[in-house]
Amino acid sequence: MKTLSILGSTGSIGTQTLDIVRKSAGEFKVCAISGGSNVRLLEEQAREFKPEIVCVGKEELKNDLETSLKDTGIKVVSGKEGLTEVAAHKDADVTVTAIVGMMGIMPTIEAINAGKDIALANKETLVTAGHIIMPLAKEKGVSILPVDSEHSAVFQCIQGEKQDQIHKLIITASGGPFRGFTKEALKSVSLEDALKHPNWFMGKKITIDSATMVNKGLEVIEARWLYDITVDNIQVVVHPQSIVHSMVEFDDGAIKAQLGVPDMRHPIQYALYYPDRYDLELERLDFYKVSSLDFEEPDMEVFEGLKMAYDSSKKGGNMPVIFNAANEFAVAKFLSGEIRFVEIYELIKKAMADVAFIDDPDIEQVLATEKAVYEMLGTKS
Ligand code: NAD
Ligand code: MG
Repeated sequence: MKTLSILGSTGSIGTQTLDIVRKSAGEFKVCAISGGSNVRLLEEQAREFKPEIVCVGKEELKNDLETSLKDTGIKVVSGKEGLTEVAAHKDADVTVTAIVGMMGIMPTIEAINAGKDIALANKETLVTAGHIIMPLAKEKGVSILPVDSEHSAVFQCIQGEKQDQIHKLIITASGGPFRGFTKEALKSVSLEDALKHPNWFMGKKITIDSATMVNKGLEVIEARWLYDITVDNIQVVVHPQSIVHSMVEFDDGAIKAQLGVPDMRHPIQYALYYPDRYDLELERLDFYKVSSLDFEEPDMEVFEGLKMAYDSSKKGGNMPVIFNAANEFAVAKFLSGEIRFVEIYELIKKAMADVAFIDDPDIEQVLATEKAVYEMLGTKS
């Protein structure tokens, strides 16, 4: 039996993780959960999974949750400190990082320092602090198990292979709701259109990231850290059906792919049970019904976010932090109706041009860069 601590238990990945726990017939236990502001769902999850502690993101909601859980004896914590307590809970074997954004960095570091394996969904953490997280994980002897479907596919493809014989990674992308759009057409898309992802049902931030293809850029950088490979050897291929979840080409030219219906419970379950596989009650892929699998080159002229991600990783230092923080800032503005879709790219571009470059940022400098991006964009936009 494995004991889990879950950061972001109320979100898309968090609730699907709990679904796997629910169906695991006692294979997993949950010792700690955390969520942002959905107190009712946190209460429900606490009553069902009986963790020792529950963290609510907003301090002002702590009393409410405490009152609701009074009869259970479950400890209620809040804010950043609470998040750390959940991440590094003494009973956890694995910490699932299903929180969204750079807020995941510090709790992930705390969990690694406490020797927890990480089931990593929170890609923003690796994008911005991969140069700190990966060596730390190695030093502490903990595994970083990918939850992102593309990275799980790569992980499954490289089992039994030698790291130094990987020639290139081929990361697939659905292309999002605006695949095939021109630059001009992209100017007038609405928030509602952007929130309609063709194949996956996810949290709002990653859904917008998929529409801009910034998500694929973040994934390229995430893969760069997970598999110790330069972005020049990571190719993005648009594959609208989302059936081939990603591929690996080896030195001899052989390519391995991982396929399946698009359902995040598959990669989540693989990370949790790794290296074992268990029955998962999901629709199975039926090749008689898959009429075709299509592949095309991404249009980085239109979907500039993908190009900027590559550029930021090639530049290195704090440039991926600037790229990511500007995107987080811009997506929040887009979600609140303050800016148009294409302005997301403009804000990222502005931040990458104007925020001070740091060659090899430590964790304080990573967080200071995030702050600098918010200050710069906040005053100029
Ligand atoms: P989501 O928005 O559905 O959930 C985010 C979780 O973080 C929620 O539990 C929310 O309450 C919590 N949270 C948000 N703000 C918080 C705050 N201020 N304090 C404490 N907690 C807070 O997001 P998601 O789609 O589940 O994505 C989570 C992460 O997983 C992201 O990094 C995303 O890129 C990655 N990911 C998601 C999917 C997917 O299918 N949803 C796939 C691959 C990777
Ligand atoms: Mg993905």
